[in-house]
Amino acid sequence: DVRVRFAPSPTGFLHLGGLRTALYNYIFAKKYGGSFILRLEDTDQSRLVPGAAESIEDMLEWAGVPPDESPRRGGSVRPYLQSQRLDLYRQAAQRLVEDDTYDNRCRHLRAGQTQEKLAQGVPHVIRFRLDPGVEPFQDLIFGRNHHEVAQVEGDPVVMKADGFPTYHLANVVDDHHMRISHVLRGSEWLISTSKHLLMYRALGWQPPAFGHLPLLMNKDGTKLSKRQGDIFIQSFQRDGVLPEALLDITTNCGSGFNTNRIGRRVDELISEFNPSKITTHSALLDLDKLPEFNRIHLQRRIEDEEQCRLLVKDLQAQVRQTCTAEIQEEEVLHEDYIRRVLRLRKGHISSLKELASPAYSYLWVRPSVSSQQVAALTPEAQHIAFLVLKLIAQRDGELAVDLLTKDLKTLAKQAKATKYSDVMKLLRLALSGLQQGPSVAEMMVSLGPAEISHRVQKLVL
Ligand code: GLU
Repeated sequence: DVRVRFAPSPTGFLHLGGLRTALYNYIFAKKYGGSFILRLEDTDQSRLVPGAAESIEDMLEWAGVPPDESPRRGGSVRPYLQSQRLDLYRQAAQRLVEDDTYDNRCRHLRAGQTQEKLAQGVPHVIRFRLDPGVEPFQDLIFGRNHHEVAQVEGDPVVMKADGFPTYHLANVVDDHHMRISHVLRGSEWLISTSKHLLMYRALGWQPPAFGHLPLLMNKDGTKLSKRQGDIFIQSFQRDGVLPEALLDITTNCGSGFNTNRIGRRVDELISEFNPSKITTHSALLDLDKLPEFNRIHLQRRIEDEEQCRLLVKDLQAQVRQTCTAEIQEEEVLHEDYIRRVLRLRKGHISSLKELASPAYSYLWVRPSVSSQQVAALTPEAQHIAFLVLKLIAQRDGELAVDLLTKDLKTLAKQAKATKYSDVMKLLRLALSGLQQGPSVAEMMVSLGPAEISHRVQKLVL
């Protein structure tokens, strides 16, 4: 059985690097009919961030890579929070201790001396003795690894004085008890793997297979910074980024696929995934391309009946929020109207938020035209309004910018005494109440015949 896990520490919120690790685990599990497990490694109690554990799971669900087993969902190898599994670590540590126990200064104490200190209640940590030598292993991505285990860090602590295990022990114990088949994790853990393998051996357990994923970096090759605050999944969500665009951009810059193409949703990532294509190069993330990815995925959503319905609801809520005071008539929030707008603007906008921004407020806010303003219009201006209404009534179906521009020019010629620019000014006022904005023809196309008529009608006495 393929069983993989994502094992973040809730010492911070989920960021892009984490999401990418989760995603590769998820698509690996789904590709091979396995399970994707979320385990929270909360053994460093002093660094826990309130709300992070909940939020990590929320973000995975939002991103479309939900775990099959997790703290919230439960599962056959529960609990999924390390702080609730302390007995398992103690038992494992006990087994190691029966072999040999010491604290750092006491590496060479005889067993009898150690027992004596323990009996006295002397605070202590438990370390795992590493003897010089290499523990070669075959990494699924980095290949043969010969890391000199003892040289780098010395004997690692496995149990801390507070009775909590360290990452190294907890990780090995949990991957064993949770029957993890493949550990796919960030390459920063590559050098620790030999150490973990020695622990598996000491405990008499069969280790899982290991594959280390190359790091995700900024496009200039610098470390992806969490301090900029803009790589947290919650910030992307808040900014109107679609989860499929995020997943797409994090896999697109990396490897693991036969081809690189933009616009893959998670089901397509699964079917096109080829783990043997994962290379050891760091993945360079180009966040400047995110709007483009989002534009493509937004378009895909708009074209999908079911998804579009959700977008309509979302946009309705956003518009209500941003234009509360000005919206007097609910017609502009009607589902059909919003659907039209989405259909027309798809491919041009890179976020739904754009449509709720001031640049598009003319879509939602009908300008108020007072009776004095109307009375002040010249008969000629009224005639133009009348001609526009006639023109719109004649046009069947959707309007097009080029055709409309031509029609409006002809119309200005018909209303001989008026310059084309005056016609435009008048229409702009009637349609948006604004002096500036998109071209009149563009606005008309977005507003559609019914809404144009409604607005221009107000100019006619
Ligand atoms: N808690 C570790 C981390 O957040 C997990 C590493 C692993 O997957 O083994 O990086």
